[in-house]
Amino acid sequence: MKDTIYTIPVTEVYETPCECPLCALEARFENDRVNYYLGPSLMEPENRIATNDTGFCGKHFGMMYKTQTNRLGLGLILDTYMTEQIARLRKIAGEKPKADEGRKSLFGGKGKGKDSVRAAQGICDYWKKHSETCCICQDLERTMERYIDVIFYLYFSQKEFREKVDAGQGYCMKHFEVLCEKAGKMLSPGKQDELLSSLVPQQLENLSRIQDEVNWFTKKFDYRYTQEPWKNSRDALPRGMRKMTGVREIGEN
Ligand SMILES: [Zn+2]
Ligand SMILES: [Zn+2]
Repeated sequence: MKDTIYTIPVTEVYETPCECPLCALEARFENDRVNYYLGPSLMEPENRIATNDTGFCGKHFGMMYKTQTNRLGLGLILDTYMTEQIARLRKIAGEKPKADEGRKSLFGGKGKGKDSVRAAQGICDYWKKHSETCCICQDLERTMERYIDVIFYLYFSQKEFREKVDAGQGYCMKHFEVLCEKAGKMLSPGKQDELLSSLVPQQLENLSRIQDEVNWFTKKFDYRYTQEPWKNSRDALPRGMRKMTGVREIGEN
C-alpha cells in the first residue's frame, strides 16, 4: 500500500488542482508505457512474445505512432505482431502450414463453400476476442486500481492529502463513477459515507461551474456581450466535453 511507485504519482497529481486527477494519472501512465514499449521493452524477448500475442488497441498504437521517436521500433513491433496474428488466422481458417497448395485447396475447389463460412466465422470469433486485448490497456487497468487503493489509503491516513482532495475540482464523470463504485466495494460503510459526503457535492458544484463557463461561452456570440471579457470560457467547450465523457483527447491539437 505504501509502495512509492503508486504513492508518488498520486501525491503529485493532487498538488495542482485540475479537472480530473484520475485523467491526469491515466495520461501520465499511458505516456510512460508508450515510451516503454517503444524503448526498453523491445530488447526483452518475453515482452515481444506478449506484444505479439496481445497487440495494442487503436488508441495506443496511435499514441506510439504520434511520439515519432522510434519508427523503427514501432515497425519491428508491428511486423512481428502481424506475422504472429496472420499465422493464427491462417491456422483458424484451416490452412495447412507450408502452404500455398493448402490455401488453394481451401478456397479454390468446388464444394468448399462451407469451409469458407467456417473459416470466416472462426476468424471473426477470434478477432472479436483479440481486439479487446491491448498490452497498455491491461497494464492501465491494473495500475488505476492500485492508484485508487492509494487515494483511499492516503485520504484516510494523511490530513494534508485529504485537504487537497477535498479542495479539488471534481473528476470527469467516467472517473467519478469509478471512484464511487470502488468506494462501495473497498471502504467500510462509515468511510464510504465520509468520502462521498465530500465527493458528491464537490462533483455537482464543479459540473455547474463548467456549465456556467460553457453558458458564458455561448453568450459571447451575442452582440450584447462582445465587449465583455471571456473570463474562463475560451476553452470551456473541450473542458466541458472532457468533464462529461472522460475522453481526454477532445480538444487536443
Ligand atoms: Zn477522468
Ligand atoms: Zn490500449
